Amino acid sequence: MRKALSLDIGGTKIYAAQIDTNGEIVSEIEKHPTPKTAQEIVVLLRDIISRFEDEIELVAISTAGGVNRENTKVICSTANLAFGYPKTDFESLSKKPVFVENDANCAAWAEYKIGSARGMDNNITLTLGTGVGGGIIVDGKLLKGKSGVAGEMHFKMSMDKKRRCSCEAYDCFEIYASGNGLRITGIDVTGNKDITTYDIIRGVDEGDEKMLRAYNIWQNYIISGLIGLADIFDPDCIVLSGSMGRFCDVEYMERVVNDEIVTLPTKILHATSGNYAGMIGAALLAFDKFKA
Ligand SMILES: [Zn+2]
Repeated sequence: MRKALSLDIGGTKIYAAQIDTNGEIVSEIEKHPTPKTAQEIVVLLRDIISRFEDEIELVAISTAGGVNRENTKVICSTANLAFGYPKTDFESLSKKPVFVENDANCAAWAEYKIGSARGMDNNITLTLGTGVGGGIIVDGKLLKGKSGVAGEMHFKMSMDKKRRCSCEAYDCFEIYASGNGLRITGIDVTGNKDITTYDIIRGVDEGDEKMLRAYNIWQNYIISGLIGLADIFDPDCIVLSGSMGRFCDVEYMERVVNDEIVTLPTKILHATSGNYAGMIGAALLAFDKFKA
């Protein structure tokens, strides 16, 4: 069976593993802390790739940042990666074909091929973590847009300029729907500036009234975004993935969303393709692009 070496490059960790055309991980998974400089990142990538290059057919890379339509370059930077990283010449890292795609797009493709959105040709995956990422699949194809970076979840929520997002816009979806958004909501509700996302989640488990209030407000922010996405894209389902996705009450969200949308009902689901969705999605997209 064909095998890819797949790498997931995030702000804090880099993962690597070999993956087959079924999306199965067929080697040990390597984990490295993400180096601080772009140069050191390239040295690490070269080292990993050179060790496995002879065993695999292609290299697939899931990365933070927006990736061009040709799947060769990062064209929009991301605050959490080293200065100069977007200039990385990924194709020069291997003598085998190299494929690059945005990590949220890869996660969406993994959900579509082996996860919750399997068999549903119109679907959206939101990766809810420190920030928010998104991947949109329309009629069985990943939506890339004119420059390749479609699916970025930065859109305006309201006009009262209460919060400023990592993209520098005020009142953007991400600064409300992310883990960071939950933390800020927790500060708003309790007045405690030192509160963490973890404190709020633990408080919800313990039935703390203020924490529950913060959590409900946060969920309703996400719901506002889901209603817009459902009406615009008319998806079969929207999958909530990422470290914060698991804390969402998807049954409640699905009920409220479907009460408000003008399109036919959509499903709101938890992700099921796991922590390595980025690597799996990158490999499966790469196999499609470089047909045997
Ligand atoms: Zn934003």
